[in-house]
Amino acid sequence: MHMLDSYVHGAWVGGTGEPAWLKDPVTGETLAGASSAGLDLARACAYARDTGGAALRALSYAERAALLARVAEVLTGQRDKYYEIALRNSGTVKNDSAVDIDGALYTLSYYARQGARIEDRAWRMDGTPDTLAKEPGFGVQHVLAPVRGVAMLINAFNFPAWGLWEKAAPALLSGVPVIAKPATATAWLAHEMVRDVIAAGVLPDGALSLVCGGSAGLLDALQPLDLLSFTGSADTAMQLRTHPSVARDGVRLNAETDSVNSALLGPDALPGSPAFEALVREVVRELSVKSGQKCTAIRRIFVPQAHYEAVAQAIGARLATLTVGNPRADVRMGALVSRAQYESVSAGLARLAAGCDMLHDRRQAPLVDADPAIAACMAPTLLGTRDPDGHPAVHHTEVFGPVATLMPYRDADHAWALARRGQGSLVASVYTDDTRFLAHTALALADSHGRIHGVSAEVAKSHTGHGNVMPQSLHGGPGRAGGGEELGGLRALAFYHRRCAVQGALQRLDALPRLHGPAPAFETVP
Ligand code: NAP
Repeated sequence: MHMLDSYVHGAWVGGTGEPAWLKDPVTGETLAGASSAGLDLARACAYARDTGGAALRALSYAERAALLARVAEVLTGQRDKYYEIALRNSGTVKNDSAVDIDGALYTLSYYARQGARIEDRAWRMDGTPDTLAKEPGFGVQHVLAPVRGVAMLINAFNFPAWGLWEKAAPALLSGVPVIAKPATATAWLAHEMVRDVIAAGVLPDGALSLVCGGSAGLLDALQPLDLLSFTGSADTAMQLRTHPSVARDGVRLNAETDSVNSALLGPDALPGSPAFEALVREVVRELSVKSGQKCTAIRRIFVPQAHYEAVAQAIGARLATLTVGNPRADVRMGALVSRAQYESVSAGLARLAAGCDMLHDRRQAPLVDADPAIAACMAPTLLGTRDPDGHPAVHHTEVFGPVATLMPYRDADHAWALARRGQGSLVASVYTDDTRFLAHTALALADSHGRIHGVSAEVAKSHTGHGNVMPQSLHGGPGRAGGGEELGGLRALAFYHRRCAVQGALQRLDALPRLHGPAPAFETVP
């Protein structure tokens, strides 16, 4: 049996005890095992901090950016192998695997390009000097310094490749060593990628470590100046927030959690208009890509009351053409990640359906080349309620699969209030050709959403998609979405830096931007 070792303190180490088993979600075949029991996590963190951190900090931003470019090159050379692993372990069709694998390569390359342009001395200065005292001469200059701890990166099962590299790229570019912990169910792909990068000898010793298997003890190994970046469920995030390393020692935490995202059809968009068609296309895409297992997927659809029926029919007609089953066959949708996830989605769907109409449901239709008793394949479902104010569960329940709920709104204020009932979401998309409505919607939802995605006629074909997370744009959301921020270009580096106010004589603070390289030896005057 294939065991996924961990890469810690510069060595591949196997866990002890009974491993967790990774399965093919379509055939049920056991693919690999993983256990982190018995790993010396305190030593792993110390090695990353001391050896990896020192080596990374000795390089400039541009030099570290060049390392990212090399990592992307190594991974690109093994792309076909990663697709095969995704097919077997995640049960995804090629297009869905691309979102994860090619998304990871794109993000790495993006940070390699952006980082190449960072000039060290300029980057370290945060703003310009300011005076503090009445008398001129005494002032403050804020500086940014890469954190000297380790960044623990904990990821969800749905993006084993992208989840790893979208976090690791800004960390490594900042000069911060990382320990990645992929979700166990799909850890094989992250393991293979790290194995290839380590084997290629691209990164300095200790810069990149990997823990495969359970999470027990991970947070205990962190120290106050370390970082923790998490993606996963709100329940797990709560456990992290209350762990003494975070709650007592002040480890900085970034959390990306679940989100009940929405799509909003503008009041101007008549059935058949480009905006109407764009919304229908996008809803169907979000329900089918990765079988709806995207944190950014559309869960709620808000449309003008008059068009509720027309939207339901248009979405249903498109959903009816989707084929579901074994991703090795010619299908549009593969599997959910596991049978356990299939059960969890079925239970969530039943909770939502209790107060909704079933507008489209083909779950009983035959699967293509897959046994419904074994495979975690699920056809998409469209629910609907004409009473969006009277059914709180639709605004609070994230069913992490191919399920969305259609709802009518009375007017713009009502639509915005409904979107905000998600209590903080990653993204809302707006389909309209009314520029004022688009702008007002963006401002009405900006404080409760990480991203507003506007689709109008000019970009109906070229926009990057409601659910696609681009490294140029902020990813994250307030409230129940976790309150975190990732990506957004070089803004991502902020999490891996500390801001410090340096006060002193302004003429001496002048030396700060001129410094470069390691500190020299300072002799003590005898
Ligand atoms: P999860 O059960 O919360 O697990 C996420 C990660 O946390 C896994 O690596 C898991 O390891 C680890 N973990 C579990 N308990 C832990 C603990 N006590 N201490 C430290 N780590 C712990 O989430 P999931 O089921 O993998 O992912 C689905 C959820 O993630 C959905 O709710 C989805 O919305 C959310 N998600 C959010 C985003 C975003 O960017 N906002 C992106 C993707 C997914 P094991 O696998 O070993 O248990």
